[in-house]
Amino acid sequence: MIINPSSRVSLKTTSNPLLLEKAQWNLTGLFMHDAFILDFIRKIRDHVNVSPFKWVHGAPLSYIWNGGRVDPEFQITRKALDKILDAYQSLDTGCMLTFSNRFISKHDLDDPDCNYLLNRLNGAAPKKNGVIVASDVLADYIRTTYPNLHLMASIIKVTCEKGEGDLLYYKSLESAFDSYVLDVNDNVNYPLLENLDRSNVEILVNSSCVYHCPHKAEHYDLLVKMHDKKNGVTMDTVLEYQKKNCTAYPVGRQLGKTRNHCLTMTELHTLYDMGFRHFKLQGRYTTSLIGILHDICHYVFENEQIGPQVFHSFI
Ligand SMILES: [Zn+2]
Repeated sequence: MIINPSSRVSLKTTSNPLLLEKAQWNLTGLFMHDAFILDFIRKIRDHVNVSPFKWVHGAPLSYIWNGGRVDPEFQITRKALDKILDAYQSLDTGCMLTFSNRFISKHDLDDPDCNYLLNRLNGAAPKKNGVIVASDVLADYIRTTYPNLHLMASIIKVTCEKGEGDLLYYKSLESAFDSYVLDVNDNVNYPLLENLDRSNVEILVNSSCVYHCPHKAEHYDLLVKMHDKKNGVTMDTVLEYQKKNCTAYPVGRQLGKTRNHCLTMTELHTLYDMGFRHFKLQGRYTTSLIGILHDICHYVFENEQIGPQVFHSFI
């Protein structure tokens, strides 16, 4: 067989290593997978020459304002917190605290640990770091006490207040917050999306719940009940509830039967072409690093060469 020299494979990698060149990503894992994420950000900056992560989000699992995954036994010293925040700052990556417990009351606002973190992040450049909130009481407190922080309305707020499909509701968030996360049911609601200010919207691309699941609010609310041991809610009971009520959990049940909110490449490109630039990779029920790494390589990097190369470099 004669091989035409012009058909030989180029040994150079693709010229654009990112799937969406101007996308800014908000990555899960703060206070959970920091050693890995910091090493990852550093290496892709130095070897692939890209910095796609504007934020990394999370919160110490036991902190009362935390509205993501909860573990009341979680402990971390302030010295360790400082070291983590300094490391992200040195890489010019913003920290976004998931203080999205929507049941925060005025009595909770003087929590010393949560205030320590906010005070620490508020000392950086304006809007460099931020907070994701679902409680209006907490939002008001942060606006006045920590004005340097970027204030983002949580998907928990949007979903639990039934903002889905409601243009006026989203417009109210545009004026009250620096940004907000879209209800996942609206990720493909293009007539609505056409009317939103692109600079305010963040789109969650990898939610594993299913379209129009009636239990979305409970998914969120059950997790924060774990803060108070008197509620008798543990991660096991949360997962048991999900399994009983939501067809999406455990994720293996979806296999071959239905699709979930994880965006297809066509949907993601459509959003990007519409001008949306802010995207989020969550980890609410994805605790494994390999799952997070998979989603990064799938959504953030060019899929044919760089994504697989990055994936295999870090597993
Ligand atoms: Zn569900």
